[in-house]
Amino acid sequence: MRQGISIKAELEEISNIYPQLDKTWFVTLTCSNCGEVTPNMVSIDPCTQIEIVKATVNFAMKCKLCRRENSVSIETADKQIKDRTIESEQWVQMATFDLRGFEIKDVEFGENWSIVIPSGKTYSDVDLSTGEWSEYDEGSSTSISILNMEYKVDKLK
Ligand SMILES: [Zn+2]
Repeated sequence: MRQGISIKAELEEISNIYPQLDKTWFVTLTCSNCGEVTPNMVSIDPCTQIEIVKATVNFAMKCKLCRRENSVSIETADKQIKDRTIESEQWVQMATFDLRGFEIKDVEFGENWSIVIPSGKTYSDVDLSTGEWSEYDEGSSTSISILNMEYKVDKLK
């Protein structure tokens, strides 16, 4: 199954938000076979390569309840993700995942985000853990902010 994580937020003077290629995602996962949810957040690191039967994945775990070996891979983001312009309070996709035997349940925003402002300046390694961020941009003399970030997880084809 494929799933995507989208976010929306109240944006002020922000033209794009995207996860860095090395971003580690922290999520809880539901076992599609038995419904067991991972008790803690697990980390899915795109730099981790695990060899399983017939595939290389970024995360693999045996379900504690049904003992099935499940796995997750982060799909490489479309290059356009860096060039797009996003709107305040509109859902926009941030990452997609290829899941075998798992479904993503909850997501932490965490760190390693890039934020672009209308002048084209990019802020890297932004921590959006709290779902909020603000800065004063000296170059354009404007306040920039992200407020009330929300996420949703969609099933994709
Ligand atoms: Zn299970």
